This record gives sequence, C-alpha cells and structure tokens, in this order.
Amino acid sequence: MSEVKKALTLEALESYAQALSKTLAPGSVICLIGPLGAGKTTFSQFLCKALGVEEYVTSPTFNLMNVYDADRGLNIYHFDAYRLSEPDEIGMDDYLYGKGISIVEWADLIAEWIPKGAIWIALEPDGEFCRKLTVGDSLEEVGGSHEDDRH
Ligand code: ATP
Ligand code: MG
Repeated sequence: MSEVKKALTLEALESYAQALSKTLAPGSVICLIGPLGAGKTTFSQFLCKALGVEEYVTSPTFNLMNVYDADRGLNIYHFDAYRLSEPDEIGMDDYLYGKGISIVEWADLIAEWIPKGAIWIALEPDGEFCRKLTVGDSLEEVGGSHEDDRH
C-alpha cells in the first residue's frame, strides 16, 4: 500500500519527517529515491534532526556513509548509493541489518541489498518549491524501478 502527499513545502516535509521519526525503531531502514535535487538529503536532515542528531548532516555523496549519534543511544547510518557500485566494500549489510537506523539515498540503485520491511519514499518536484512524496513498502510501490538512470 502506498500513500501520496502532494505540494509539500519545506516546512511540510519537515513535519512529515518528524511524524515518521516517531514510528522508527532500531533496525529501521528508510530508502529515499528521486531525481537529483529532489530533496533526499534535505529529508535526511529533517529526519536526523527529529531523531535527535545535533551534528550538521551533510550529503554522504563522496564518503558514501556518515554515522551520527541520535536520541535513545541510536546510531544513524546515512548512505548515498549514487557512487556505491559495490555495497560489500563498505560492509553495508552489517549496518542495514544492524541495530541503528539506516537512511539510504538512491536506494533504487542497490535495491537488491535493501532488507524486506524497509520504508520506501519517493520524492519528486511538484512546482518550484514543493515536492510530491510517495511512501510505501517497496520500490515498485512508490513508482521506482531498478533501472540505472544515473547517466
Ligand atoms: P542529490 O540527488 O544530488 O543527492 P537530493 O535529492 O539529495 O539531491 P537535496 O540536496 O536535498 O536533493 O536538494 C534539494 C534542494 O531543493 C534543497 O536546496 C532544498 O532547500 C530545495 N527545496 C526547495 N523546496 C523544497 C521542498 N519543498 N522539499 C525539499 N527540498 C526543497
Ligand atoms: Mg542527496
């Protein structure tokens, strides 16, 4: 089952991230998909803040993964799969199946690595300052495909 929210402003996106944060538990995996500039990192920042991360959250584009301390002693693992051709190289499974909360940008590119039970969120532009958000239980449910559209 997927759910669609339209015309989300930055503030509305932050509210959504706050609500979502309350439903997460150790081991939760949040997969973010959508084109360049869709708001995946922005959403990750809102979600980390809502989970109690005090550090400034940046895009893990070049270092592939950033780790943050959140409330309740939780670790947040923030990934960007855009340049990650071999998830084994960073031992990604240990994080995805571990006790922290994983946030994966461009998860569609490594969909076969994502545990069942992950929350999939697709972001798309919806006018200049708003986004459409689709949330569901699988890549297909949120309208994504396994196709590599990086190039
Ligand atoms: P990339 O694929 O390069 O990692 P991204 O999906 O992570 O891109 P962001 O880095 O979050 O995208 O960039 C989104 C930009 O759009 C930010 O500068 C953000 O401030 C802006 N923006 C404007 N309105 C919104 C909105 N309603 N929701 C999300 N981002 C918005
Ligand atoms: Mg990003």
